[in-house]
Amino acid sequence: MIQRISRRKFLVASGITAVATVASKSVASQAPLGYLAQAAGPETNTIRLGYIPILESAPLIIAEAKGFFKKHGMTDVKLLKQASWGAARDNMELGSAGGGIDGGQWQMPMPYLFSEGLITKGNTKIPTYVLLQTSTQGNGIAVANKHLGKKIGLNMAGARSYIEGLKKANTPFTAAFTFPKVNQDFWIRYWLAAGGIDPDDDVKLIVVPPAQTVANMRTGTMDGFSTGDPWPYRIATDNIGFLAALTAQMWKFHPEEYLGIRAAWVDKNPRATRALLSAVMEAQQWCDNLKNRQEFAEILSRREYINVPADVLGPPLSGRYIMGDGRPEIRDRMMGPLFWKDGRGSVSYPYKSHDLWFLTESVRWGFLKPGANTMAAVNKINREDIWKDAARQLGVPAADIPTSTSRGVETFFDGVKFDPSNPTAYLRSLKIKKVKV
Ligand code: CA
Repeated sequence: MIQRISRRKFLVASGITAVATVASKSVASQAPLGYLAQAAGPETNTIRLGYIPILESAPLIIAEAKGFFKKHGMTDVKLLKQASWGAARDNMELGSAGGGIDGGQWQMPMPYLFSEGLITKGNTKIPTYVLLQTSTQGNGIAVANKHLGKKIGLNMAGARSYIEGLKKANTPFTAAFTFPKVNQDFWIRYWLAAGGIDPDDDVKLIVVPPAQTVANMRTGTMDGFSTGDPWPYRIATDNIGFLAALTAQMWKFHPEEYLGIRAAWVDKNPRATRALLSAVMEAQQWCDNLKNRQEFAEILSRREYINVPADVLGPPLSGRYIMGDGRPEIRDRMMGPLFWKDGRGSVSYPYKSHDLWFLTESVRWGFLKPGANTMAAVNKINREDIWKDAARQLGVPAADIPTSTSRGVETFFDGVKFDPSNPTAYLRSLKIKKVKV
């Protein structure tokens, strides 16, 4: 423990640019192993977890439906569907004692925003840990059919003058995401900015809950949106719009959503936390097993879960996307949502380098102040050490347990690179941004 604390102090003392190199050497390798008596069961068998009806929550749903929570001793997990991200945020503030939740599925960096009191009433700080990534990919940007033929696609450079024309005509392109300053907002901003379109000046950005996105596009109150499967796919199959881009095309195997739980709950219930994580990991392995695909879609389609027909869920689960604008259908399992392993490493393991990207992107758009000691926050909130404990407890082979907290350099579709050991260089390389670096 002494070693860990001194390293943390060093991290606090260092700046944003230098620290990631240190963090890439595993902090968790120093975590005391086996201090949890195997014989002792979880301190509690109950927890209240929120989820949003999109594929990112599938590992939580499967852990419940297939009995993995129970198998690992968490016999009374209350998995609670949330009406919107805003409602999930409010329930997190209430906590289970107030009829809310102890944690659940979050976009990034929501666990950081809770911890810093940036999205709570009265800026109440709710220390929250990032424990596991639920999935990668499986998100997309859908655009209404009235914009067909305007060169809107993955690369937006060709559509730039069209978007500028809409702004001049006082009918700006209106794009929606499901909660501000998190994943979906970032995907839509990255996509526009890569094509030379300033998301703060050239378009209008609004917030819409995931399940209402289809209805809003049908009624014409928005031109585009970014959210999780199956909603973007549904836009194309219902012939309301087309898929401009899959997030898998923008950033292969990108970080997506996470399991995050109140730090107080985790600190009080270390064995229960590891039991929960083991259950979700087992569910993630189940989700990636092709033999389970039909049952997977059937479970998710149930009214109490995502509540859409299994035939709408099935194709995206297999990486099949109708783009809806004449472009060929995508048929590539590695382009769809993945839950346990992708072509690069672990999906489930929460890489610190990914948290760092979300925080760096927050600085890019002026959501967080530059110079904030980003890595210090990551080292406090990201508990990849607990993930590793749980993985070992579950018997995950050593080869499937990452040895570095950094996944290394990330490359985006426009050629931009994010080197976690030098976030400032990434910020400098971006043409459109709200921060001076
Ligand atoms: Ca998402």
